[in-house]
Amino acid sequence: MKIPLSSVKLMPNAVELVKEALQSGWISGTGEYVTRFEHDLAERVNRAHAVACSNGTLALEIALRALDIGPGDGVIVPALTFVAPAAAVRAIGAKPVFVDVTEESWTINPSIDPYGDYEAIIAVDLLGHPFDCNTLMRCTEGCPIIEDAAEAHGAWYEGLRVGSLGDVSTFSFHANKTITTGEGGAILTDDPELAQKIRLRVNHGMSPDRPYWHDVVGTNARMTNLTAAIGVGHVYHWNELVEARNLVARKYDERLRDLFQNTELYRRPVAAWATEACWLYTVAHPNRQPIIDALRSRGIDSRPIWTALCDLPLYRESCQGEYPVARKIATEAFWLPTWAGMPDSAIDEVCEVIHDAIRQPVR
Ligand SMILES: *Cc1c(COP(=O)(O)O)cnc(C)c1O
Repeated sequence: MKIPLSSVKLMPNAVELVKEALQSGWISGTGEYVTRFEHDLAERVNRAHAVACSNGTLALEIALRALDIGPGDGVIVPALTFVAPAAAVRAIGAKPVFVDVTEESWTINPSIDPYGDYEAIIAVDLLGHPFDCNTLMRCTEGCPIIEDAAEAHGAWYEGLRVGSLGDVSTFSFHANKTITTGEGGAILTDDPELAQKIRLRVNHGMSPDRPYWHDVVGTNARMTNLTAAIGVGHVYHWNELVEARNLVARKYDERLRDLFQNTELYRRPVAAWATEACWLYTVAHPNRQPIIDALRSRGIDSRPIWTALCDLPLYRESCQGEYPVARKIATEAFWLPTWAGMPDSAIDEVCEVIHDAIRQPVR
């Protein structure tokens, strides 16, 4: 593809820090950069504790286990998201229960039955947009909330940073995410006891005070010191990396405004209480395929959004009722190429092809 869906911007200081980490000889999951990364990340999103781990999916599994969610427990998951939250729930033997998203924000509909059969909620900050945390807490009083912030580094919810919502929050630092370490994840909380449980789980369940003593079954989900060095470099450039994607989004907004006003093309909405941090610029159209085909035939990697999880046979048992909003978005939305530093010429070209495809007379 001539214009890829996304592209990694490796900051020069990250490259330097990795070299230093390599030269230090500390290349496993122990080392100065892991500690620094955890400290810098917690500070950046205003959480008391952060534990680095190997990816965003394991971060969710470990958050669930640390909250003592286990076999047979129900966990609410939005019907529209990348599959990882549902897979994490299944991986620990619990049952995902799907809830629809709202038209207003494309995030989880907070009006969940407070007496429903579930023990936790995973709320996803979808495509750079926070979930409605206060309303969700009010509706589900006392039920632990895990915030999956994998797609929303740098977004805000009513003056609060994404990554600081709910009881526990998780990030992914996969190469296509806004802040990246290649592969990587983190689990954050303000609760010191919970943070301790999380750390145990990431590191073999081993007691920090007594070597080779294990009170819980852990795993090895540690982030390597090399990976953490990339993370330190990129967290340092956090605002710059977030703003660079927002700038691309504003340019798309400008160049597509007439289509949003005069045709059925529409943009991913942003709720009044949210400050978006664009991850992948997302638009939608009731007949999206000809637009995507036109883009792809010109070497532009545009892709339909995920299948709604309620339509995956693997998760049929997680459905209760209908999911009209998730299904509508899943069949209409598609992604446009987005990355930090994407050149204007590429944005122009994408928008020209979309204009041509939509203005084409219907035969
Ligand atoms: C990317 C992503 C994850 C998983 O992250 P990995 O680091 O790739 O395991 C989890 N949740 C959401 C919503 C994501 O977009």
